[in-house]
Amino acid sequence: MTDIRELYQSVILDHYKRPRNFGKLENAERTAEGFNPLCGDRISLSLRFDGERVVDVRFEGSGCAISTASSSLMTQAVKGRSRTEIQAVIDQFHRMLVDEADPDALAADLGKLVVMAGVREYPVRVKCATLAWHTLRAALEGKLETVSTEGRE
Ligand code: ZN
Repeated sequence: MTDIRELYQSVILDHYKRPRNFGKLENAERTAEGFNPLCGDRISLSLRFDGERVVDVRFEGSGCAISTASSSLMTQAVKGRSRTEIQAVIDQFHRMLVDEADPDALAADLGKLVVMAGVREYPVRVKCATLAWHTLRAALEGKLETVSTEGRE
């Protein structure tokens, strides 16, 4: 179990140090801002679509290791997927972290995102991990106000 935990931590650290899809899309079709007041994490997300499919996604912001790694992993997970597929991943991620569903049972849909499962042992950090996903949902829904994790899990 320790080996798995160390592997997961090294993936999180890698995404924190070298976040993937970091930056801003020039021709973004949807953007959203997210803020986690508990930790001070901020994220700005931009998306580009081809029909129902997200063809490009980038994020900017400043946050802790958990929020940055979660944002980075999130961009990899949604790129190339349809809105319906993305909605399923958002739901599964939420189930893993908030409802504490068994990540092994969800792994098929979550893929690499299971590395974030350990965060649920630290309840104050769960919002760091879910911030990117709340922001993603807001971007897909086309909401313009800043999404706060306040009052959300
Ligand atoms: Zn944080």
